[in-house]
Amino acid sequence: MRAAQITAWRAPPDIVDLADPAPPKGGVVLRVLAAGVCRSDWHAWTGADSDVSLPHVPGHEYCGEVVAVGAGVTRWKTGDRVIAPFILACGACADCAAGHQTICADQVLPGFTAPGAFAEFVAVAHADANLAALPDSIAPDLAAGLGCRVTTAWHALTGRAALQPGEWLAVFGGGGVGMSALLLGRAMGARVIVVDVVPEKLDFARSLGADAVVNAATEDPVTAIRDITGGGADLSIEALGIAETTVAALRCLRKLGRMVQIGMPAGDHAAMKLPMDVVYSGQLAIYGTRGMPAWRYPSLLNLIAGGRVDLTPLVTRRIPLSAAGAELAAFDGPAPPGVAVITDFLT
Ligand SMILES: [Zn+2]
Ligand SMILES: [Zn+2]
Repeated sequence: MRAAQITAWRAPPDIVDLADPAPPKGGVVLRVLAAGVCRSDWHAWTGADSDVSLPHVPGHEYCGEVVAVGAGVTRWKTGDRVIAPFILACGACADCAAGHQTICADQVLPGFTAPGAFAEFVAVAHADANLAALPDSIAPDLAAGLGCRVTTAWHALTGRAALQPGEWLAVFGGGGVGMSALLLGRAMGARVIVVDVVPEKLDFARSLGADAVVNAATEDPVTAIRDITGGGADLSIEALGIAETTVAALRCLRKLGRMVQIGMPAGDHAAMKLPMDVVYSGQLAIYGTRGMPAWRYPSLLNLIAGGRVDLTPLVTRRIPLSAAGAELAAFDGPAPPGVAVITDFLT
């Protein structure tokens, strides 16, 4: 199969021919229909993610068609079109039984701890416990985001911080997960402010329905959000993994506000200096979040199928496999608005 393989940190991935994967016990092999290029792939590409070793095929945000079924799989057969969460939980441990698949200690992560979906085929472990049927009404390029960014935003808003209609949601970082939070937050009846430093991304956020946008390069986002909301946001989301935005996401909250850390703090940002006096005096709550348990797919798919949220505008670039390297490198700077999805795995 053709695959994009990283052999040196920060070097453009090579397009190589690798052996087709075989289905693991309890798993399946998917022909990848679409694979998103996410900031977490960039972390892997730079060497900042300790889960990743070389050589490595990235790609954790994907959907596909089942082409091979391993022993013990009961729910899936060849030809099924499926969505996979990027965390493939074991489905058998106490945390999985309690519905907390994202903290499963036996999880498999294609694109990080296993070969990923920047390839024609990807092996998916623990298929019965993790896969969801891809509805016919959702195009594969949109469904790719249901592997990472859209589901991560959904779980942050609904599974962790319980966003309520009418609340002010401040989103720091206008990338894929930030724009997903904007669309989902609006669909839930919240008022949404998007903060970024790239004017094109702020224009994009406005076009997607943001109630307000703040350019943190030209104004203090904390003051701006306090002014816009009349006292502070109810809920903020940090979608970059950077100390400066995490601090601002805390300081922009009103009392009893909640902040969700979605961005992965890696490298120099792994340990941050945070204003704990603000957390104390404001009686704030800080949530970490990572992915979404697979059992929560129906709540999101119903919202989409019911026409309450349109993900179509998120995907702004449909690219061939050979262009994945340029998209990874673009995360070094102000990446263009919207998300890139690999839809052609042969060129
Ligand atoms: Zn991701
Ligand atoms: Zn488990």
